[in-house]
Amino acid sequence: MDAVNLLGFDLEGLAAYCEQLGEKRFRATQLFRWIHQKGASDFDQMSDLAKSLRDKLASRAHITALSVISEHNSADGTVKWLFDVGAGDAVEAVFIPETDRGTLCISSQAGCAVGCRFCSTGHQGFSRNLSAGEIIAQLWYAEHSLRKRFGKSERVISNVVMMGMGEPLQNYSALVPALRMMLDDHGYGLSRRRVTVSTSGVVPMIDRLRDDCPVALAVSLHAPTDALRDQLVPLNKKYPIAELLDACNRYLDKAPRDFITFEYCMLDGVNDTPEQAHALVELLRGHVSCKINLIPFNPFPASGLKRSSRERVTAFAEILIQSGLVTTVRKTRGDDIDAACGQLAGEVQDRTQVQVRMVRAPMMVKGADPS
Ligand code: SAH
Ligand code: SF4
Repeated sequence: MDAVNLLGFDLEGLAAYCEQLGEKRFRATQLFRWIHQKGASDFDQMSDLAKSLRDKLASRAHITALSVISEHNSADGTVKWLFDVGAGDAVEAVFIPETDRGTLCISSQAGCAVGCRFCSTGHQGFSRNLSAGEIIAQLWYAEHSLRKRFGKSERVISNVVMMGMGEPLQNYSALVPALRMMLDDHGYGLSRRRVTVSTSGVVPMIDRLRDDCPVALAVSLHAPTDALRDQLVPLNKKYPIAELLDACNRYLDKAPRDFITFEYCMLDGVNDTPEQAHALVELLRGHVSCKINLIPFNPFPASGLKRSSRERVTAFAEILIQSGLVTTVRKTRGDDIDAACGQLAGEVQDRTQVQVRMVRAPMMVKGADPS
């Protein structure tokens, strides 16, 4: 039997595993704390576990993070890691420090099947789902390597946003245990309000998340009408805007925050006119409690799209704000290390040894999850 990677178990799963080994369930709590709170990867470090248990674990299990292909540090403190997930696939995570919090943006899939027009992951297509262990490994690695770097024993990462590569709600069975590990007091102990799932709008899974593990929700809207959204986010043909907004309202019943964040990527001449801003107001005002986050588009050649001018974005934001919709314009971070949305492709294509698929980091910027 292959040795099992304990990074993939939430506390419940680890307790079941311990029982299988003939151990008491509470051992799982000790083990879980060693792994996630202390960053241990060697069973011999786990001084409060009996030697016999440590030996048993060492012979059947392991704690293995993802291997790091590269790490880039920006002058503004942003750190970006590219992780190898095997078979030529890579995903990335980005840490964005701010005065009052540290946000980690992580990936849920290698590639993405949704195929949004403005997203380089969408253009690349779907490779595979990450496991729960591969999702949490990004947080595990970032948290513990940053603690060492800053000489801190306390938590460095206070917020997690699922805004890297992939559609988290199309990898639901791995997402939920990973979220539980983030929230668990014996794990990372993050508040539900500070963990954000971003989705292109997988309606049935929004309902399931509400019941299984409600965290903050961001919805990638990008258009005020179905005709336009059908073109930008192909999933809209399956789950049109009205159904999506109904699901958002149902979600709000159990959500830890009393608003949904709508993300709107500003594309020159496509979705950025004053008429479209007014249409967005009509669509949302009085219908869904929300905040709007306008994202400057990060261009890549295959998209054939351009970023809206600053004036255009400001004018669009003004209309929303004047109409009473809380609106922020996302500031880009880590520009000097290509940590902004859609910018990693070049670096990856340059790699000759490991043939890594094109990846990009959509979020990598500030303000997605205001607290
Ligand atoms: N699949 C999920 C989460 C990952 S994408 C989703 O779509 O919500 C995270 C955010 O980055 C989304 O709002 C997405 O629309 C945005 N994004 C993707 N490509 C981008 C680009 N080239 N420029 C700016 N934002 C982009
Ligand atoms: Fe997938 Fe999100 Fe990119 Fe759309 S924007 S292709 S859903 S990762």
